[in-house]
Amino acid sequence: MNLPLNIFNLYIITLSIFILGAVTLALVGLVFVFAMLYWRSQTKPAVQDYKHYLTGLPGRAQMMSKLEQLLVVKSQNDMAHVALLFVDLDDFNNVNNSLGNKVGDALLLHLSQELRNLAGRYSKYFYQIGSDEFAVILYDYGNDVNIVSEVANEIIHVVAKPVSIEGYELHSSCAVGICIYPECATDADGLLKNASVARDNAKKIGFGSQSLYTQEMSKKSAMRTLISADLRMALERNEFYLQYQPMINIATQQVEGVEALLRWRHPSLGNITPDIFIPAIEDLGLIHSVGKWVVYTACKEISKLQAAGNPNLCVAINISAHQFNKGDIASVVAEAMWETGIAADKVELELTEAVVMSDTEKSVLMLNVLQTMGVKIAVDDFGTGYSAMNQLTKFPISILKIDRCFIHDVNTNASNLAIVSTMIRMGKQLGYKVVAEGVETKEELEVLRREGCEIIQGFYFSKPLSIADLTKYLSDNVLVKASTA
Ligand code: C2E
Ligand code: CA
Ligand code: CA
Repeated sequence: MNLPLNIFNLYIITLSIFILGAVTLALVGLVFVFAMLYWRSQTKPAVQDYKHYLTGLPGRAQMMSKLEQLLVVKSQNDMAHVALLFVDLDDFNNVNNSLGNKVGDALLLHLSQELRNLAGRYSKYFYQIGSDEFAVILYDYGNDVNIVSEVANEIIHVVAKPVSIEGYELHSSCAVGICIYPECATDADGLLKNASVARDNAKKIGFGSQSLYTQEMSKKSAMRTLISADLRMALERNEFYLQYQPMINIATQQVEGVEALLRWRHPSLGNITPDIFIPAIEDLGLIHSVGKWVVYTACKEISKLQAAGNPNLCVAINISAHQFNKGDIASVVAEAMWETGIAADKVELELTEAVVMSDTEKSVLMLNVLQTMGVKIAVDDFGTGYSAMNQLTKFPISILKIDRCFIHDVNTNASNLAIVSTMIRMGKQLGYKVVAEGVETKEELEVLRREGCEIIQGFYFSKPLSIADLTKYLSDNVLVKASTA
């Protein structure tokens, strides 16, 4: 009877030893795995020595690692500055799309070499951080933001130099966003993020611009993100409306026309300014539907005012680059004219210098179609791009709107006066109607009158008005009616 029991005991003991061994092994394994995980979490992986396949330049990871190193050194030694310049080629995709990747690659290689040579004069640290994005770290440059800005200018200048590739004469431009440590950000991630925000801002200013990061930019970009979802619903919820700012002929004191300005009343945040919501509309791809609504509504409201006794009133409508480049602006305007009955010669389209002078076959064709329809083209924010005035004659333009940055203090600022005076004289010689934007004071007005500017727009005469206030403004200003006699 004892024998089976002994065998059973032996079996139990063997099994226990086996289980104990397995558990011990598992525990040792677990401890090893945790130890490995802990060790790996404490040890930063080395930055891969990644180089861009085409240009051979080091990439974003190396740049971040170098920035981190430099910031550590800086924070320990002194508060000397480190600057990050984010260089983004404008519209580079267009080259690939229109001329093919071979030309695009050759251009990218050429520009990267030019930039590397230039950057090399100031810094050892030059990177390619995206397909058409580069970065320069300036280190120990003497704490002078003007130096950083000069480097940015040189970069813009180098990129703008025309180059001949495969028989094509290519003109490029770039935006440079600048972020400085410690004023604009206190760590490497912040420097890159804010340099990219500054780059976005430079892009908005126009081709070939630079911009130094400010906190205001981050607030705007956070606001844009916040409102994006609501913007998608704004058109169908009827939250958009237009205001109109009068343009006054100073010789006759008559209202020549009005500029339609888009407004958005957000259901909970109230009115949001166009410089925040219009870029967001463009980013979301809504500019075509919203732009179409603006064209139609402006034509409808102004044709009603014409019928109510202001037959000569013109309306100027802003058309963004995205809207224009879609290629259907002539049919959008023609449809609005047809539906509202407004005459073509009472419609002006405001396009920025860069759009008018892009000089592609398609854009010249579209401008000519609009001119043939009888619609007038105004060059908006004139002077902020860098086209020469004699280039204007190549395009069917009727109106020049001098940007308000030149009008501000034109009575006390000699260089603004010299620029404005040249623009007015040359504009008139070329047969354009010249409009000064942003006139705020009597003194500015007097200088402009003396220099021969015909049309004035600005707070001095009137802020943008709701359609109801405009109706009242026009009835008080009987001069528009008088001009019809
Ligand atoms: P913009 O085309 O240069 O329009 C003139 C801007 O100057 C308006 O700003 C106007 O309110 C402002 N302004 C007029 N007079 C004065 C003045 O005496 N002093 C100052 N400081 N400012 C003055 P707003 O309405 O904020 O529009 C800003 C920009 O938004 C416009 O600049 C235009 O680029 C864009 N925008 C407005 N409406 C539309 C639209 O329907 N479509 C598109 N694509 N862009 C629009
Ligand atoms: Ca405008
Ligand atoms: Ca303008």
